[in-house]
Amino acid sequence: MADYLFYWTTDQLAKAIALGRLPHAGSEQFSRVKRGDRVWIVGRLNGAPELLTVGYIDVASILSAKSAQAEMARRVPGYTIWTASKHILASKDSECRTKRLSLAPLYGHLEFESRGTKTLELTDGHPKPQQLQTMRRLTSVASVVLRSHWREDGKVRRAARAAKRALDLDQLEAYRLTLVRLEQQAARALLLDGRTTATCDFCARVVPASLLVAAHIKPRSSCTKSEKRLVEVNVIGLCKLGCDDLFERGYVDVLDGVVVQGGAAPITPAIEKVLDGLTNRRVIGWTEQREAMFRWRRNSRKVETT
Ligand SMILES: [Zn+2]
Repeated sequence: MADYLFYWTTDQLAKAIALGRLPHAGSEQFSRVKRGDRVWIVGRLNGAPELLTVGYIDVASILSAKSAQAEMARRVPGYTIWTASKHILASKDSECRTKRLSLAPLYGHLEFESRGTKTLELTDGHPKPQQLQTMRRLTSVASVVLRSHWREDGKVRRAARAAKRALDLDQLEAYRLTLVRLEQQAARALLLDGRTTATCDFCARVVPASLLVAAHIKPRSSCTKSEKRLVEVNVIGLCKLGCDDLFERGYVDVLDGVVVQGGAAPITPAIEKVLDGLTNRRVIGWTEQREAMFRWRRNSRKVETT
């Protein structure tokens, strides 16, 4: 399953909004698309430079022009498909209802699987449509972020408005909070991959998803912009049965792929017992790249304590 961004003209977007749902799209570019993929319809409205989406098509069938026209005429009387050899249709009962959703808060997160440019290039704060003339496939992280953005839109907007009222945060700050939440959700979704239980990377115990934390090895606040995108490297799964707190508070660290005792004190007999069971264990999912993050964490603690 893949998520794609597919660019529509203002006219096409306006028609979809008037119809209120997204049953169909046609293009020569859909030979890459498979059933089960999601094609996000994006574009710009009323000459505004902002990129937005009006929704998606969950591809249920890929049809020729003739079959697509016949099916669409049945669903929407008077509907005329446009000229293209490939047509994608959502199933009748899962047509996405359109809404206008700005993608501006996600510009830095929309990353593509491609040999060429992997991110949106912004000119005066917005992407140029030319970059999206070819349908772009999103990375798995970007797909999760966009899906959360769509799903959480209503909730997030309300929360942002409330936060703004209560704390007088400016728009940017509200967006920043939104993004942190979206990233956390994305990290969790990636870790869990739809599972209801997961294994702790330190103690190897299998716990319910609700007791697993998507923990940053290098704290998010210390990450550079490019490191923030390394979700798959910098985020590990730690259980709430102790491992997350012990790591967060410096009781344990990782050295050469093994859990070692950190410098935190005091060590009470109860802590000692837990550390005995935890140290010298191999970290699950350890990689050289992750070791670099763990090294940063160890060194940052030395600075804190001196
Ligand atoms: Zn654990």
